[in-house]
Amino acid sequence: MKIRSRYIRYGLMTIILAQVIYLALGLGARSFEAYCPFGGMESLWGLFTAGEFSCALGPLNLSLLISLIVLVALSKKSFCGWACPIGFLGELLGRLGGKIWKKRPRISAKMNFRLKLIRYAVLVVALYFTYKTGELILRGYDPFYIIFSGFGHGSAGVISVIVTVAIAIGAFIIPMMFCRYLCPLGAVFDPFSRIGLIKVTRDESSCTSCGNCDDACPHDIPVMTLEKIRHRDCTNCLECVDACPERDTLQVRVEL
Ligand code: SF4
Ligand code: SF4
Repeated sequence: MKIRSRYIRYGLMTIILAQVIYLALGLGARSFEAYCPFGGMESLWGLFTAGEFSCALGPLNLSLLISLIVLVALSKKSFCGWACPIGFLGELLGRLGGKIWKKRPRISAKMNFRLKLIRYAVLVVALYFTYKTGELILRGYDPFYIIFSGFGHGSAGVISVIVTVAIAIGAFIIPMMFCRYLCPLGAVFDPFSRIGLIKVTRDESSCTSCGNCDDACPHDIPVMTLEKIRHRDCTNCLECVDACPERDTLQVRVEL
């Protein structure tokens, strides 16, 4: 019997989510914020100019960022598909949305590409304000911080509530909406993801063009027309591999 990769993936992400909740409840030695890889990015300017980390951030944030960039260069955005708690929550909401709303509107490829530009704008704005003030003033708009701090110190009151609700509704309508269009960490990973060595490959000779892989991909990557999935958004989630009815047509390989 074929074991769905999704079960393994969801099991792993449940363990990670439980650990983040444990830290968020103040039961661990460190704050949950110490494990935010984007914090490493936010610290770079402070480290460069003043030799110190911004606000609540520390060396662990930077080490995580560097480790994840290496991981992405090896295995594309597998962190996003196999470990990120916000990605996991968004994916669960997206699945729920798909079950309740069978015929959700599909974003055209052109519009999808355009909307993805927003994540680069979010990255620039986040870094600009953090570097300018030395404070993590965008915490109030960051779902990771808002959710796990329980709208705690640094959140922006009613604005944070609106942001969270909007992101949740967005995830319900468009699969992986936050990851696709808003996540600044995803924007940092993009160039490294393109060279990611471990990727899904398609054997054209046994492919029947059934389209199951395209339908299964939460990032709307046109798997059926590609020989190697080099796409920057691929999280190696293996949903396409699980969905393919042909034996060994989609495989995970180390390829340039
Ligand atoms: S191409 Fe396949 S492995 Fe990559 S994100 Fe889409 S479904 Fe997941
Ligand atoms: S699911 Fe498999 S057989 Fe169907 S189009 Fe995709 S690669 Fe080809």
